[in-house]
Amino acid sequence: MRRKIAAGNWKMNGDNNLLDDLTTLTVGQNISDPEVIVCPPHTLLNKAVEKTGNSFIKIGGQDCHVEKGGAYTGDISASMIAETGAKYVIVGHSERRDGHNEGNQGVRAKVQAAWSAGLNAILCIGESAAERSSKDTLSIIGTQLHASLPDDATAVNTIVAYEPIWAIGTGKTPTLNQIKETHDMLRDELINRFGTEGMKIRLLYGGSVKAANATEIFQVENVDGALVGGASLKATDFQPIIDALAET
Ligand code: PEP
Repeated sequence: MRRKIAAGNWKMNGDNNLLDDLTTLTVGQNISDPEVIVCPPHTLLNKAVEKTGNSFIKIGGQDCHVEKGGAYTGDISASMIAETGAKYVIVGHSERRDGHNEGNQGVRAKVQAAWSAGLNAILCIGESAAERSSKDTLSIIGTQLHASLPDDATAVNTIVAYEPIWAIGTGKTPTLNQIKETHDMLRDELINRFGTEGMKIRLLYGGSVKAANATEIFQVENVDGALVGGASLKATDFQPIIDALAET
């Protein structure tokens, strides 16, 4: 059985009040309860770890540099994130791929950097609206998965998040059949490449998940949870998503 995951990506949002709100989440600790991960901005990582004890909620960064240190103004290394006590880092989010020109090879190097620092990677992949319209979705995300994920991926060090770019922050979501088609394909690819380990790697859906659509999305086969942006910012929005996952 794959343990479900509700992961929150705060993006460039969040302050001390939001951290206090985070501690009001009710999160179970049994294997049947979803694992909850929150990725606040880097400035809040230390406090987030402190407030959650990194126990009932795991904390993650939103990106890391490939190098351990050096002259990279404004960047943060995976080991710096790990030093805060965080356990995860998001890599390859479309807002990094598009906004910061990150390609598959660079994302792959970041996954390696995360692993070397002892972090688990949340690897994001997803197609643009144009790629969806031209029916290139499966080949685009298949290539992204293959090229961005190094060979020594395991179910512990890697979580894969399928996030159609056109669904992020737009209120639009793929149909349930479209989600099923992509997640089934990703599962097959993971099994072909990693054998039984590929069966265990968690596959999250991301893009406009909210309380109103969470249950139906979580019922789709091979959806092991969600990477949630906007609706992870308030406990009152995030809690029903966690609860929907617990009940699925
Ligand atoms: C995201 O940024 O990863 C995301 C899924 O955002 P939202 O839930 O707001 O669409």
